[in-house]
Amino acid sequence: MPNELTVSRILDAVNSGSGMKTFDRLMKLVAASASGSKPDLKVLKELIQYDVATSSAVLRAANRSGKYDDNAMDIPSAIKRIGSHTLKNLALSTEFIDLDPKSDKYDPSNEILQWLWERSLFNATSARQLAIKLGRDNPEYYYALGLMLDIGAHFLFANFQEHYYPVLKQWQTEGGMLTSYEHDALGIDHTTVGQHLAHAWNFGPDFEQAIKHHHSPEKVASDNLTMDVLQLAIRIGGVFFSARHVSELQSISDYSVKEFGLNADALANVLQRIALEADKSTYRLSIDSSTGVSSIDLLRIINTELGRATLSYDQMVSELETAMKKAETLAMKLEEANIKLRKAANIDSLTKVYNRRFFEEFLDWNFQRARRYKSTLGCMMIDIDYFKKFNDTYGHLTGDRVLQGVANTLKESLRGTDILARFGGEEFIVLLPESSPKAVCLAAKKLHKAVENTPFSVDGKDLSVTICIGHHYYNGDKELNIDRAKDLVRIADTHVYKAKENGRNQVWPSEVEE
Ligand code: GH3
Ligand code: MG
Ligand code: MG
Repeated sequence: MPNELTVSRILDAVNSGSGMKTFDRLMKLVAASASGSKPDLKVLKELIQYDVATSSAVLRAANRSGKYDDNAMDIPSAIKRIGSHTLKNLALSTEFIDLDPKSDKYDPSNEILQWLWERSLFNATSARQLAIKLGRDNPEYYYALGLMLDIGAHFLFANFQEHYYPVLKQWQTEGGMLTSYEHDALGIDHTTVGQHLAHAWNFGPDFEQAIKHHHSPEKVASDNLTMDVLQLAIRIGGVFFSARHVSELQSISDYSVKEFGLNADALANVLQRIALEADKSTYRLSIDSSTGVSSIDLLRIINTELGRATLSYDQMVSELETAMKKAETLAMKLEEANIKLRKAANIDSLTKVYNRRFFEEFLDWNFQRARRYKSTLGCMMIDIDYFKKFNDTYGHLTGDRVLQGVANTLKESLRGTDILARFGGEEFIVLLPESSPKAVCLAAKKLHKAVENTPFSVDGKDLSVTICIGHHYYNGDKELNIDRAKDLVRIADTHVYKAKENGRNQVWPSEVEE
């Protein structure tokens, strides 16, 4: 039995200045970016914003009582205020918990921290994206509020894990109100603990109020616009965090119309941004989401719920369960279903390669990476020659079969790390991370030959097409005419036109210097 935990022991811990804990993987990345002779402050700043423990330490330092006239209300301004030296020291001195089962400090109850961490990140991301959509000033302020909402829970877990773990576990498995489980077990709940922390750490009245009332919004003046956004963010987080709550979507949708005039399409658009952003941050940390379903998968489900089809998640799962009674384990089948769902959201239905939306989301991201690490990013634009005439001659259906054939040929000729997408009608685009200009040119020639030499058999006829490929590359900061990802695509596209003008059926440029 753990020692008895009293409310006054908890509040003593708050006032004694105890902090929170992050986890090993985040800490490893923080250490890699903050130490050594050349710290990467940009990466460090990005990592800190993903994390409740380090972000709250930064906000706390930036709001040290008596030191500044006003409150730092968002994380980027807090970072600016404390300076990079303090930032590094703070980040490196954050305590952490081991989530690696091989570590001797590992305890299975540690795992729930990742779940808490993801929830907070989700609240923050949702709040920021909603603020952007609604045209509010300083979306970063909403992000910080969202990230700090559950500091009480993070604090209780970091300092009283033995007592608090069973409470979280009960809530995680049974659902319902966390605050009432907390009252039963501890005599106090995370909203009150959080408010005390925000007060002790001088976060200012906005933070105190948001933290205290994030589960009791009715106690806040009804014209509080910040609280409205946070409420919607929390409810969206709830849906993403428990697939059981998808049924709540209709009421979220109604609430969005009533409070903000956001219709179902606008809401779906925000959800998509939230899902992508959250997936990117977890990917960045190479973490498998603790929910087991990726945000993108869930987004599919949500889109369906918002009126695009009739199958609910529960129905889908139950159909799967019946279908697989004879087969392997439930976990394996669900895993497969998740992979299928994830793919369907990102994949062009005719050619089964990535669609343009997916490509554009990842283009920006790859571009930022290339810039940061000064690595080379190649891009190819591919356009089938005289395809209109081909359709006119053989019919549209045959054209479709050939488009599929071309996509397959391209896919087979590329490396696994290259990203191939259908850009539009008879155009494809390829992104080649970490490829030298020469390698990009060679790859383009290989694709060109492969398509030229592969006949596609349709209704007993062997048909073939030719393509033009325009390619270009970005190598860190050396290419002065490229400063956005879109420029890379634009230039590759102008090179396709050069190939067309030059007689079609070719790669442009045909040679490059190393
Ligand atoms: P160019 O050599 O200049 O590229 O000539 P083109 O005819 O290929 O180019 P244009 O842009 O004039 O026409 C593209 C054609 O691609 C028009 C359309 O018939 C065909 N196309 C676009 N999408 C599809 C599709 O999904 N299926 C089929 N079968 N054809 C398509
Ligand atoms: Mg075209
Ligand atoms: Mg064409």
